Amino acid sequence: MSVETIQPWLAHRPRRGATHIDTVVLHATPCENVSSAVAQLKSQGLSYHYIIDRTGLSHKCVPYSAVAFHAGNSYGPHEAARGTSKQQDAHFNFVELTSVNEYSIGISLVNDNDGADPYPREQIDACIGLIKELAATLKSLKYVTTHSLVSPGRMTDPVGIDIVRISQQTGLDIWLPEQ
Ligand SMILES: [Zn+2]
Repeated sequence: MSVETIQPWLAHRPRRGATHIDTVVLHATPCENVSSAVAQLKSQGLSYHYIIDRTGLSHKCVPYSAVAFHAGNSYGPHEAARGTSKQQDAHFNFVELTSVNEYSIGISLVNDNDGADPYPREQIDACIGLIKELAATLKSLKYVTTHSLVSPGRMTDPVGIDIVRISQQTGLDIWLPEQ
């Protein structure tokens, strides 16, 4: 599997001591190429652990031992387990100001996120390969989800991704907000 390393790392901070990293959050990044995506993320102070381009080349932007700033206001398995309020304000922000960033790995696929732009097979295969590789060293990984599932109403990415196939081939469960 081909992985290129982006140096210096994009924005990150240390994880808290006992963090149980169990969730992969998938995103889509509309951009010309990875360099323009990286430039934009830098200017916004945002980051993913990995960006996968359309050819299936993965770009490591932050080591998973650190928190990347990819999901913002969001609600995932840890909040659900704690019974945190799911109340959202008029802008679909969770009023408890929760975020999955602390315990997740963010992987973004270069895509227009318009529902029409297809994800090439090489790109999805690279995503599956990357998650399998991460899961082999990080035994705590349990869930795969999307930005739209952890930030419902506020985010739509990655539109149209076949998360069922990704779940089946990586062995991770799909995390869905409870109904
Ligand atoms: Zn996103």
